[in-house]
Amino acid sequence: TTSLVWFRRDLRAFDHAALHHALRQSQAVHCVFVYDSAILDSLPRRDRRVDFIHASLAELASELHQLGGDLIVLHDDAATAIPRLAAELKADAVFANHDYEPQAIARDAMVADALTAHARLWFSFKDQVIFEKDEVLTLSGKPYTVYTPYKNAWLKKMRADPSCLAPYDIEPHAARLAPPRGKPAALPALEELGFEPSNLAELAIPTGMSGGARLFEDFLPRVEKYDVARDFPALKGPSYLSLHLRFGTVSLRYLVRTIIDLMERGGGGGGAPVWLAELIWRDFYAMILVQNPQVEHAAFKPAYDAIAWETGALADEAFAAWCAGRTGYPLVDAAMAQLNQTGYMHNRLRMVTACFLIKDLGIDWRRGEAYFALHLNDFDLASNNGGWQWASSSGCDAQPYFRIFNPITQSEKFDASGRFIRRYLPQLKALADKEIHAPWLVPRMLLDQKNIVLGRDYPAPIVQHDEARKETLARYEVVKVVK
Ligand code: FAD
Repeated sequence: TTSLVWFRRDLRAFDHAALHHALRQSQAVHCVFVYDSAILDSLPRRDRRVDFIHASLAELASELHQLGGDLIVLHDDAATAIPRLAAELKADAVFANHDYEPQAIARDAMVADALTAHARLWFSFKDQVIFEKDEVLTLSGKPYTVYTPYKNAWLKKMRADPSCLAPYDIEPHAARLAPPRGKPAALPALEELGFEPSNLAELAIPTGMSGGARLFEDFLPRVEKYDVARDFPALKGPSYLSLHLRFGTVSLRYLVRTIIDLMERGGGGGGAPVWLAELIWRDFYAMILVQNPQVEHAAFKPAYDAIAWETGALADEAFAAWCAGRTGYPLVDAAMAQLNQTGYMHNRLRMVTACFLIKDLGIDWRRGEAYFALHLNDFDLASNNGGWQWASSSGCDAQPYFRIFNPITQSEKFDASGRFIRRYLPQLKALADKEIHAPWLVPRMLLDQKNIVLGRDYPAPIVQHDEARKETLARYEVVKVVK
């Protein structure tokens, strides 16, 4: 039999469920990636994620060539291109890994229907999470809606059956990879796809399987301090692997296995279990999205859809200031600059900026979610939605609505010396550590001495936090009534 493996968010040639199963079950295995016009058409013409995919595909293709295979790369509407290619290759079956986003599920169902209409088979496998959909359930057989008991059940299940972490070997049957049909075609250049290079290369963001491996190697010696270091955006605390987890250039099973092995050998300090817990959050949100696809557009707790958000010209202006990092709150603005310049934002700052938009500016969380979706390199519908619903208090396991981050206190606590702020807001460099968190509180004379003029060099605050807090508590009253 002949098979076709369709790569999507799993751009690696090792420990790959669909590739492993295709190789075991077929005599000849073709590989394809489709730059899906249904997704690409809506993106800005400079997009770091397209650059990342482009660079990562080059490595994937080269790896597959070394194994004796090939990577066919198309730029087309994937829903129709895959059945067409399967017919052209006379493939009996198409293999892919599960995707949990509603649009991807609909697309895959269309592909599966088109294949079966011509007596071809569709197989898909769990790959991007450890446990999916309904694998971790409460004692009464229901999906969890609260994280901590989910995490405990997840850990119990993983320990009871460590085979869930076993790698999916490729090598034993690699000889079944179909060689290139003719001379291997050059991969389409970015320009051919209608894109211009972003600043990804300038930022030196590592791409592909080798980039993911390098980041993990770099992180492992730091993991024991992760529990403390992860909260301070000026430190190299987290792993920076989210982009690689998003596109599958690393194997989640390998990451989890390595951390568990480390912990079992008594290593990893206080950080390893905390980092593992973050990977479990990722599984949790993927499960929440599959079980509750309505969260893509609506509050997880329906009562929260009754909240009246700020709209109109003033709200639009405030939203634009938030997007551009011109709110006058340095930590918020530095965080937005990090996002706009690099496509990454530190987790603590994602929480701070999201809370600020929702609870200081009174703006619908969905507007912020959409902005993050456009700009985050690691954008993932499930985790992004989970994060935003957490911040708006409308999600599962969300922070209570009356707990409102104070952007100044957050700044004093997590960037006490202003190192992170100075990195992204050099115009505030001259301010003392204590002054940098709220420049409008600095006496005018001092600002003059440092040649800083609010409104010229840096905005005055667009909102007063104490007043905004009161308004938010009133805005959220409706939740109590509706309940
Ligand atoms: P590390 O701290 O090294 O964590 C390791 C991995 O665990 C991450 O790569 C990620 O896969 C996972 N993880 C960590 N925290 C979370 C979390 N809270 N929820 C789910 N998974 C987590 N993460 C995304 O991958 N894509 C998003 O679009 C996204 N949007 C977010 C929006 C908001 C408002 C918030 C509050 C969080 C969001 N997160 C998102 C979660 C988290 O901020 C990022 O995963 C993390 O900052 C990525 O950096 P890292 O790889 O260095 O993380």
